[in-house]
Amino acid sequence: MNGLMMDTPLTIQMILERARTFFPKKEIVTKLANGVHRYTYKDFYHRVAKLITVLDQLGVKNSDRVATFAWNNYRHLELYFAIPCSGAVLHTLNIRLAPDQLAYIINHAEDQVIFFDAMFAPLMKQLKPHLKSVKQFVVMDGGAIEDDDFKALSYEELIEAAAEGSFPELKEDMAAGLCYTSGTTGNPKGVLYSHRSLFLHSMAMTMKDNTGLCEEDRILPIVPMFHANAWGMPYTSAMIGATLVLPNQFMQPIDILKLLIEEKVTVTAGVPTIWIGVIQLLEKEQFDLSNLRVVLIGGSAVPASIIDYFDRKYSIAVLQAWGMTETSPLGSIGRLKSYMQSLSKQEQLAIKTKQGIAVPCIEIRAIGDNGQVIEWDGKSLGELQVRGPWVASGYFNTDERAEAFRDGWFSTGDIVTIDAEGYISIADRAKDLIKSGGEWISSVDLELALLGHPKIREASVIAVAHEKWVERPLACIVLKDQFKGQVSSEEIIDFLRDRFASWWLPDAVVFIDEIPKTSVGKFDKKQLRNQYKEFKLPEK
Ligand code: ADP
Repeated sequence: MNGLMMDTPLTIQMILERARTFFPKKEIVTKLANGVHRYTYKDFYHRVAKLITVLDQLGVKNSDRVATFAWNNYRHLELYFAIPCSGAVLHTLNIRLAPDQLAYIINHAEDQVIFFDAMFAPLMKQLKPHLKSVKQFVVMDGGAIEDDDFKALSYEELIEAAAEGSFPELKEDMAAGLCYTSGTTGNPKGVLYSHRSLFLHSMAMTMKDNTGLCEEDRILPIVPMFHANAWGMPYTSAMIGATLVLPNQFMQPIDILKLLIEEKVTVTAGVPTIWIGVIQLLEKEQFDLSNLRVVLIGGSAVPASIIDYFDRKYSIAVLQAWGMTETSPLGSIGRLKSYMQSLSKQEQLAIKTKQGIAVPCIEIRAIGDNGQVIEWDGKSLGELQVRGPWVASGYFNTDERAEAFRDGWFSTGDIVTIDAEGYISIADRAKDLIKSGGEWISSVDLELALLGHPKIREASVIAVAHEKWVERPLACIVLKDQFKGQVSSEEIIDFLRDRFASWWLPDAVVFIDEIPKTSVGKFDKKQLRNQYKEFKLPEK
């Protein structure tokens, strides 16, 4: 039909242009060892334009994968824009992965160039003999490296020498970004974002009923830029001209709190373990958090104790989001509907600990054991499936787990209930569910309850093999420093007794110094399960 709307391509270039045109004075701030680096979107734009020339000089062509190996900092942000705006694909490598996993991912992605923070030079040198496609290394902060066995160009020297390049015309369905899942089962798998998917995801992040990011915000993503694009915050911030505050490698609770205060941050984001550490410090010392309005938490279930703490002590809203690398990541958000404001605090808290309703553009359903779509009754369990314009339609260059992408839906591997209001509640990842005598026990529910115990700092519940019941729960507990050695297993189990059926209660409790974390800072159950593989549960 003629007279339809224009078919304007939705690209990262459009986001960049918007930042330059409307928000040239707004700032990007990066924490450094001494003080901060501060510049404007205008300065930023000019450096990105020079990088277009640099990428061309490095021989980067359309669709080539160009990797970054860096903390959250302004140079990384420049590459976030320059690489996709040049027509290439930004591949954000996870700096916490083991060398053999990194080599696998780099070779699989066929990365042509790697840009890295100088502190990772020894690791790059170690990796180099195992890399098949990489033609150039570029060190982002510091001078060129000219060792016999390892050479890297200097980012700053390249920018210094380059004229501003012109941006090629792009289509919205071109690949713009690549991020690998952590590979808890099988090899890590690549998720390929398009310009269009990143653009639409950024728009969604600005909706008031979603994360509601806006121009006046000062946004501090603690979530790394290699973890699902720092949950979309870099692109969204540029689109709306929000001030972006980047923590670099300074991510201890004290660093985070200082940066929140000094930069008057209004919105911050990270996985629950980050906030567990921050709250421990807040309990000991006074900090003025009066500028902060939202703490966005996702990646793992958010304990009610965290939501309640920020609300009660600081009137700060904790927003729980659910998502995956495969969903860009925003899938659902835990906001109350307006008519829920009249509920009691306790009832509201119960809703906020759920993973919320799907954001616009994302559709959800869950499939039960019998292959049927489950009822939204808040009780029936099923595997969550999602679809939408920023959900992967398959993994990059592999048929692995092709079965997860069927009939236009993506099967998430998350076992959920959905209530009549449409709120998702994650019972577990399928692989973490504890199968006891043919029934399922949700490790997440037990953990969330344990994390509400005033003496517990970290808690993880895992399945341990059991002769009669197949699997039984084992609670792994880290006590707060001041309670170490003073809490018995019975006290822990008694705390759970009123809240759960007796067959849900863990058969044993182990007290440990720390729960191992994954490369993106979540409790690492795979490692815990390995550690306690041979654990002998008491006879029952
Ligand atoms: P990784 O596999 O390294 O953890 P992702 O961040 O992509 O990488 O993991 C996505 C998974 O994280 C989801 O499938 C889900 O199991 C879990 N998850 C994400 N957000 C939440 C949340 N708010 N509550 C519970 N689980 C969550």
